[in-house]
Amino acid sequence: MSNPARTDSNPLLNPPDLPFGAPPLDKVKTEHFLPAIKVAMEEAKQQVADIKNNRAKPSFANTIEALELSGQNLSRITTIFGNLSGANSSDEMRAIETEISVASVKHGNDIMMDPALFKRVKAVYDDRANLTLTPEQNMLLEETYKGFVRSGALLDDDKKAELRAVDEKLAELSTTFKNNVVKATASYQKVIDNEDELVGLPDRVKAMYKNNAEQAGQPDKWIIKLSPPPIDISEYSENRALREEIYKARTNIAFGGQYDNRQVILDIVAQRQKKAELLGYDDYASYVLSERMAKDSKTVMDFLDKNEAVYRPAAEEFMQKVQDYAAKTDGLADVKPWDFPYYARKLKEETFQINLEDVRPYFDLEKVLDGLRKHAEKLFNIELTETKDKYPVYHEDVKVYEVKDKKTGEMIGLFYADYYARPGAKSNGAWMSTFRNRGLSDTGENEFSIVTNTCNFAKPTEGHPTLLSLDEVRTVFHEFGHGLHALLAEGNYRSLTGTNVKWDFVELPSQLQENWAKQKDVLDTFARHPDTGAPLPPDLVKKIHDMENFDAGYAGLRQTFLGKLDMKWHTTDPKTIKSVEELEDGVIADTWIFPREAGTQSTAFGHLFSGGYAAGYYSYKWAEALEADVFSQFEKKGLYDRDTADRLRATIYSKGGTEDPDGIFTEMMGRKLDASALFRREGLLPAANDDAPQKPKAPHIHRGRKFG
Ligand SMILES: [Zn+2]
Repeated sequence: MSNPARTDSNPLLNPPDLPFGAPPLDKVKTEHFLPAIKVAMEEAKQQVADIKNNRAKPSFANTIEALELSGQNLSRITTIFGNLSGANSSDEMRAIETEISVASVKHGNDIMMDPALFKRVKAVYDDRANLTLTPEQNMLLEETYKGFVRSGALLDDDKKAELRAVDEKLAELSTTFKNNVVKATASYQKVIDNEDELVGLPDRVKAMYKNNAEQAGQPDKWIIKLSPPPIDISEYSENRALREEIYKARTNIAFGGQYDNRQVILDIVAQRQKKAELLGYDDYASYVLSERMAKDSKTVMDFLDKNEAVYRPAAEEFMQKVQDYAAKTDGLADVKPWDFPYYARKLKEETFQINLEDVRPYFDLEKVLDGLRKHAEKLFNIELTETKDKYPVYHEDVKVYEVKDKKTGEMIGLFYADYYARPGAKSNGAWMSTFRNRGLSDTGENEFSIVTNTCNFAKPTEGHPTLLSLDEVRTVFHEFGHGLHALLAEGNYRSLTGTNVKWDFVELPSQLQENWAKQKDVLDTFARHPDTGAPLPPDLVKKIHDMENFDAGYAGLRQTFLGKLDMKWHTTDPKTIKSVEELEDGVIADTWIFPREAGTQSTAFGHLFSGGYAAGYYSYKWAEALEADVFSQFEKKGLYDRDTADRLRATIYSKGGTEDPDGIFTEMMGRKLDASALFRREGLLPAANDDAPQKPKAPHIHRGRKFG
């Protein structure tokens, strides 16, 4: 047995020589992490001490850049841990997760609250007018200085100690929140004895539940789980009692019971408020938003109010249509939240004379990925090649692609794709992350990004390939859009490249990619019937196109509601919050359509409480406004217009956080944002005469953690 604490036998500290520094994911075991992190932290501390104790006058190179390049082993190791704990966790990993996240916060604060180090940083910052720096270096200087201030560098010792305690508590709480959601999700199952109870469900769904039961040693039954999310039950089950039960099970995730997140949330918002006050802000939203494109709460609330004004009438009209339809078809006078998706789907199918299940066979995941690859290659002049056994993976389902720039022939990244659900091991939702960002290594070499996409699609079973819905096809494009943001990144400093942008910019490159997944010309390149090989019939494409905006108002209002719920959590004085239920009920009464019937949205809302979207959920709509405007250029000039695509790559997809986002956007567009482009695309405002013809847009489903 090798001793994990020994440096030479620990693959995290002494990684095997893999191409391009790929992570040794096949060799890493849970017991390697704690000893490796301990060693890497000591190394990082020494590097920082050397910067601090440097006798030379503080300079950009010996202080700011040196800090940026320090601690790379540590971040390499903790990044592996973070990615595995999201995509392939276990009880053993969860047992050390809090310890690791608290230790990381402590380590970060040791650096950011070090007065002697800050003195050097400030000396360089104060001298910035006299320095000759590139724009990227200027950005690094500014962000480094602000990072120190926002971490408490200007506070006195007592307040620093308080802030440290808050940060450590928050690290612990958000880990608890996340793991409660995973465990609560995995702990639920509904055993079905009689197939009649599954009436209305498509065969592929029944096959999945049958497969669950077989794996559980109950081959004569069916087992419904909450991962992947049982959306099909809400849309297809004719069994109203089952719809209600599953709806309630979903909204009861981490609400009550063994994995209750209610007190965790109240503790999180209390600690966040304390943090904001220590740093001189009124509330947590003000603290967060001072570093966003939106800049303050008023701008965000005005933005959400404007959205609501456009979406509410359309949402209410849609709601009434669904209610009328349910009354007409089934005599149902009182449509509940568990009825709504079912009747909305039926009404949609009737209105457009389409059977949505007929669409799925054209979207075999393998074909979608092939289409995605071709699309990205054409748009950005890159090449993706699937590899076999060249790069180690943490699970057999993970595939690794090499990404090359076709013009230069140069490798520009590695892409790890992990698409199938693993209940109990993988967090909910879909997200992108990285093992490494583009930038300088500590030996001065500019290394490319190593990127991951993680989803929760049903794994194929015998005779049942993974057939995606239209929404899921768009999710694949969305997450790959985040991936492209990192893969196409240019720049020297990892803390600034790729997706390290202001949070309300981060959903622009991702949501933008969804547009191509809606175009006939793009669909024709990959959507094929599995039996005949025929492309999507033109009338089906037309129907897909026509039904795009069917529930745009409803979906838009839903996102607006979630944005307001987020803002409410982070602008309300926690002392005045009586309960999670009460706060959420208040926002529902103001903004949403259905009253709460069971648990809350908040207890499983990882975006807010274990992801990075606190006071940031509005970013989805914010970036959608940006993205709709950008895509209008492709509608005018052509889907793959070379000049437009090259400019897109040179601005939005390559600059990351190395420049100001407003400037990057203006450089792409040649003008400021036209915020109504989104509403025009959604058919909620008339198309402008001088603009592109109105193109519809699908509802944006809300997604998982990291960059969901
Ligand atoms: Zn996203």
